[in-house]
Amino acid sequence: MTAHRYLGVDLGATNTKMVVLSIPAAGEPVIESVDSIPTGGAEGHEAVLARMIDVFNKRHDEEGPFTALGMGTPGLFDADGVVEIFTNLPGQWRGVPLQRILDNGLAMSATLINDARAFTLAEGRIGAGKGAGIVVCMTLGTGIGGGIMIDGELFRGATGFAGEIAHQTVLPDGPLCGCGNYGCAEGVARSDRLAAMAGTETVEEVFAGLAEGDERCADAVATAGKYLGIAIANAITFLGPDRVVIGGGIAAAGDAIFDPIRASVHEHVTLVAPELIDIRPAVLGSEAGAVGAALAAADAAGPPSDRRRPAARPGSA
Ligand SMILES: [Zn+2]
Repeated sequence: MTAHRYLGVDLGATNTKMVVLSIPAAGEPVIESVDSIPTGGAEGHEAVLARMIDVFNKRHDEEGPFTALGMGTPGLFDADGVVEIFTNLPGQWRGVPLQRILDNGLAMSATLINDARAFTLAEGRIGAGKGAGIVVCMTLGTGIGGGIMIDGELFRGATGFAGEIAHQTVLPDGPLCGCGNYGCAEGVARSDRLAAMAGTETVEEVFAGLAEGDERCADAVATAGKYLGIAIANAITFLGPDRVVIGGGIAAAGDAIFDPIRASVHEHVTLVAPELIDIRPAVLGSEAGAVGAALAAADAAGPPSDRRRPAARPGSA
């Protein structure tokens, strides 16, 4: 039995992560390697993509062949792979026909996926959500992403935006969010807001201050935890997930952020028995997005491998 090998890419604001993921016909996917290159976003999209395509094709020649490539992107694109919004990447990405540029330049097929959905696919299928039927994921960082996984498959909804857990309104008339709404969980709790509430430059300083007993840092973390908890409580009440998985840079603070989130969730979820609320930290680390992109490429390229979807009914395609 042969394994298919995929190149998974997580296009980031500063660095672009790459993993080689091997998916055997039976058994668990294996992460063969993890690498990172500077994104160089300041050079603009044409230079960035030309350089990336060179790197990917070279790796395909030297380490491949890869069955396909998956790319996680920091934003949203339409059904044809034309960029609608890219957050945190400098330059004019809106309107860039990303799928077409990759298809024209790459020696292998390419699949695009939003980076938070890639995180969800990875954590939900082979990470902290593994084995759970309905998984809600949240990734806390510069932005706050999310996703929903049902029986091993991403749930995208009719709109394609399903899973945007942090763009629920949690504070009517709250701060303006990057999405245009006021009072989203992201607009209250993303890393720069958290730092601003605490009066620090970075979130690392917020959690260092919290550990030293700084009151303003403690208040800021409690506030962020409260509103993130409301967003998660809403998702639990509405969707009834088996498990909630939280990852991303801010989640690395551990109990310091998980404790206020859990307290807020338990305060606001009244219809679900507390013992059925299962909130866990992500386990795949910073390569989750690239791993999920590789899984998305595998899903697009061929038959289900490590997918927990029900066996096809006789006669179904
Ligand atoms: Zn928003």
